[in-house]
Amino acid sequence: QKRNPNEHEFLQAVKEIFNSLVPVFVNHPKYMDYGILDRIVEPERLITFRVPWVDDLGRVQVNRGFRVQYNSAIGPYKGGLRFHPSVNASIVKFLGFEQIFKNSLTGQPIGGGKGGSDFDPKGKSELEIMRFTQSFMTELSQYIGPDIDVPAGDIGVGSREIGFMFGQYKKIRGSFEAGVLTGKGIEYGGSIARQEATGYGTVYFINEMLKDQDFALKGSTVVVSGSGNVSIYAIEKAIQFGARVVACSDSDGFIYDKNGINLDTVKRLKEVETKRISEYVDVHPDAEYFEDCTGIWSIPCDIALPCATQNEIDEATAKVLVANGVKVVGEGANMPSTLGAITIFQNSNVLFAPAKAANAGGVAVSSLEMAQNSGKTSWSFEEVDGKLQEIMTNIYQNCMQAADEYGVPGNLVAGANIAGFTKVADAMVAQGII
Ligand code: NDP
Repeated sequence: QKRNPNEHEFLQAVKEIFNSLVPVFVNHPKYMDYGILDRIVEPERLITFRVPWVDDLGRVQVNRGFRVQYNSAIGPYKGGLRFHPSVNASIVKFLGFEQIFKNSLTGQPIGGGKGGSDFDPKGKSELEIMRFTQSFMTELSQYIGPDIDVPAGDIGVGSREIGFMFGQYKKIRGSFEAGVLTGKGIEYGGSIARQEATGYGTVYFINEMLKDQDFALKGSTVVVSGSGNVSIYAIEKAIQFGARVVACSDSDGFIYDKNGINLDTVKRLKEVETKRISEYVDVHPDAEYFEDCTGIWSIPCDIALPCATQNEIDEATAKVLVANGVKVVGEGANMPSTLGAITIFQNSNVLFAPAKAANAGGVAVSSLEMAQNSGKTSWSFEEVDGKLQEIMTNIYQNCMQAADEYGVPGNLVAGANIAGFTKVADAMVAQGII
């Protein structure tokens, strides 16, 4: 805390993990001897840089770029890039720290990293976005590579931005290194099903959890926050499993469609026309639009899937969800629930799927994209989707097993933290104090 004053999100993420690790250190005193906790919270490297670019009016603009190369004990750094005005060192460090354990849980050989910029893509022209991303990559290219650090997308960074960055990296390096970025377009090395992977994976994880329960996705009422990449494909998979998704949002407000939202309309508005979710009601007059996105959690539902951003569910919101009878909360976004909210869910017997397990499908398929790139091959949708399902099932089982082993049966928060941590800690011990 003393070393990282004002880094609230980062301290929150560290606290959440450390709370689970007490029994692990009792069982493995070696981790203490090897200074694992002190080392694991300190990024191997935090790079910040100036990103100058010229807007459409010919004015010079300057943003701040970040890359945190957090931990490379089990593989090259891997994690997305976020373009959002809220990005700062605390946000990048919380995301990078979480990424270490999430990547470990996937069973893939990938370390933890994250990055981004306080650049706001909203309202920018395509050429402005291109100039910005090229400038961003001009600097970032010095620090990344297929066996060093492999960035991907996150909030505000989709396949268009990845495409611009890949083009700039290729130009600077003078070589086509497909494995340097994931989330690429299919025509130049991207993986089929990467776009769907995080949202689908979250719902596969929930489906796995529900196999032991007398309640299923089929026939349930679901609320999903956000309407970006993770949200859209979580909605799609939930509908495929027979759920009725009644609400989604963007940062301005949310829509409620009691008959079940029409995903084609959401996709057209958000993926094709980059419009606001409010315009949904122009096409579906029976649906309602409400300003203030946080209000979405007042809609009664069986399953809540927060898929927008960090800390969107606080204690008060969690109490409303519980009072309205929520049975399952599955985190599609990173750290969408505060520590207080998680405690409320756990104390109310709500089945709670934490982000680092439930949303690991995206980075897992990114790793499959790296494997396809290095083998110069590409797999079918069925192949990738099949591997994704297998990975999500394994993550669920490993988390449950770790929770059992360390005396907290059924606690997926602890299980995910412990299972993700021990693999990285063992690798750090094996590699010595570096
Ligand atoms: P997108 O940019 O595609 O979509 C983000 C969505 O959340 C948009 O609807 C956006 O609304 C909304 N949103 C963003 N910031 C806020 C905010 N401060 N308050 C309310 N709503 C907000 O991002 P992704 O779908 O890729 O990412 C969503 C979450 O999932 C993030 O937490 C990300 O870290 C996490 N994640 C993403 C993965 C991926 O593969 N993409 C993998 C694992 C985790 P608006 O358009 O108005 O900004």
